[in-house]
Amino acid sequence: QADIAMYWAKEKGRDNAQFFRPDMTNLATQKFGFEKEINEALVSDQFYLVYQPKVSVHQGHIMGLEVLIRWNHPTKGLISPAEFIPIAEESNLIIIVDEWVIDHTFAQCRMWHDQGAKCVPIAMNISGRHLVSETLVPYIAAKMAEYDIDGRFVEIEITEGVLLSDVERCIEVMAELKALNIKISIDDFGTGYSSLSYLKKLPLDILKIDQSFVNECDSHSEDGKICETIIQLAKNLDLGIVAEGVETAEQVEKLASLGCEIFQGYYFYKPMENLDMGELLMSGPSEY
Ligand code: C2E
Ligand code: MG
Ligand code: MG
Ligand code: MG
Repeated sequence: QADIAMYWAKEKGRDNAQFFRPDMTNLATQKFGFEKEINEALVSDQFYLVYQPKVSVHQGHIMGLEVLIRWNHPTKGLISPAEFIPIAEESNLIIIVDEWVIDHTFAQCRMWHDQGAKCVPIAMNISGRHLVSETLVPYIAAKMAEYDIDGRFVEIEITEGVLLSDVERCIEVMAELKALNIKISIDDFGTGYSSLSYLKKLPLDILKIDQSFVNECDSHSEDGKICETIIQLAKNLDLGIVAEGVETAEQVEKLASLGCEIFQGYYFYKPMENLDMGELLMSGPSEY
């Protein structure tokens, strides 16, 4: 029980002393179990990565990739990141998971580079908690050096939510990432609550239109108008724009007519495992 109380105290941060209360037992025990399972997953190779291309609408060229984590659990089967990432984000476990992703992504990039595959930027999702930590930039820099990866092939996707927590710190970290030549995207744009004034304060490169707006963009709903507004905003601020979750030709046509040029979604490619992705990078049309 002392351990559990300490775990909680650690979770809540140092200057915020917490006292053990009996009603915490359940959640804390659950978290203990989860932590053990994640650690287990890391040592016994239950995580793996899949890759989804971002495609230029003009020539169908692959302009970049996004890496997405998968958890093949021995008894529960495939667990979606939408399920376990939010739980990992409640604690510093997310840093361990993100670091695993960064390490394995760079190792894979190095392999593709060595095999002569066309090089395109690869985007990793980094949780807000990790972004504002002291460890993200040194870790990335060390791994870039270890695998000899140039910053222009690295992109970080963060969601808007993080901007609310500590803008000044976000600006600081983003500037350090920029100094490494890394690109920064805002993921799921339009679903958070970022104020527009942040957009000009932050050294951003790309807005990714959330798939919830893309879904209905070609119908007579408001979503088409929202997409149009986001695309205009990006253009006015000199940011790149990517539409995510594109599933139909109608969506592509509509968004392209609004000025969107880069697309990611099942219509073009589903996320795929490393061998398929490697083959496509070796043979397929890509350009950077
Ligand atoms: P996200 O970064 O917004 O990723 C896009 C999600 O949409 C992915 O789900 C992708 O598989 C899915 N998707 C792509 N194209 C389509 C489409 O045409 N239709 C539909 N319906 N879905 C599409 P996934 O892989 O389940 O990931 C869910 C979320 O989990 C991600 O959202 C991201 O926020 C988080 N995530 C995934 N991998 C990682 C990771 O390595 N680290 C961290 N911190 N978060 C991750
Ligand atoms: Mg993403
Ligand atoms: Mg997204
Ligand atoms: Mg998402």
